[in-house]
Amino acid sequence: MPLASHAPGTFAVLIALLVPIGAASAARAQAPPTALAAAAAPTLMIAPGPQDRLLVVAPHPDDESLCCAGILQRARANGAATAVVWITAGDGFEFDAMLVEHTLWPRQADLRQLGAQRLSEASAAATELGVPPAQQYFLGYPDRGVTALMGDYYQRPYRSSQTGLAAVAYPQALSPSAAYTGSNLARDLARVIDEFAPTLVLAAAPEDRHPDHNASGALTRRLLQQRGQLNRLRYWIVHAPHWPLPRAYEPQLPLSPPAVAATLQWESLPLSAGERAHKLAALEDHRSQMQVMGSFMQSFVRANELFARPGN
Ligand SMILES: [Zn+2]
Repeated sequence: MPLASHAPGTFAVLIALLVPIGAASAARAQAPPTALAAAAAPTLMIAPGPQDRLLVVAPHPDDESLCCAGILQRARANGAATAVVWITAGDGFEFDAMLVEHTLWPRQADLRQLGAQRLSEASAAATELGVPPAQQYFLGYPDRGVTALMGDYYQRPYRSSQTGLAAVAYPQALSPSAAYTGSNLARDLARVIDEFAPTLVLAAAPEDRHPDHNASGALTRRLLQQRGQLNRLRYWIVHAPHWPLPRAYEPQLPLSPPAVAATLQWESLPLSAGERAHKLAALEDHRSQMQVMGSFMQSFVRANELFARPGN
């Protein structure tokens, strides 16, 4: 594929990153008061205890820390077992590759290199949060491809326009060389769920606007529903319009539910100062991401984390 064909995707990423930042203060002024009021009253979450087994389903390296760094630490401190499964390697983020690889038009090889780097950053962050290496599961499916895998490419292989790959390429993945199909992804995630046997699963909400996020959340929900374990699922959100605000490191401020998901039954887990410090350290392990969107990532280091019960 000619390099120039990457341009529209690259600028789409730039726009996606920059528009919400630019519009943030205006949106805060214009947000309807009813939505803010409805989002303001989450109940207190009961933290996982010694009998629990907590699994975080992260679409990309960094999501595990953004959504769940606090609860992963708390679960571990309370004697629960903890695990993280990463659906993709984050190898489709071209703006990121430009900075990390110091090139204006990243080549497919640059994006594969970025994926390898992001997997290693994810492992460092999870280790920082107390997740043992044996319970760090990498699936290695294509960044920006999860929705396609769950649709047209459930049975036939998908090829990533970013990396040129059509099969899992990372050696630490659960199924190296598996074709990029939705059925292979579902099989791998099911294997993680069945092997780890979680009592609590944290996955992206349908309201999360990143397609990889809501698609991986929907797959997680389906697998748990098939097992009669939907009551073990809680949702998190990372990408919602104009959220969180302000986009800055403000660890004393509470995190309130985003307006787009104000009607979910939110529960709040207050974090200690030490847990917030480790959350920041885990985010800083994601060096490639901190380079391009550090203030967005730091805006998730707040006084609490939020999780919601799925509807029926
Ligand atoms: Zn993500």
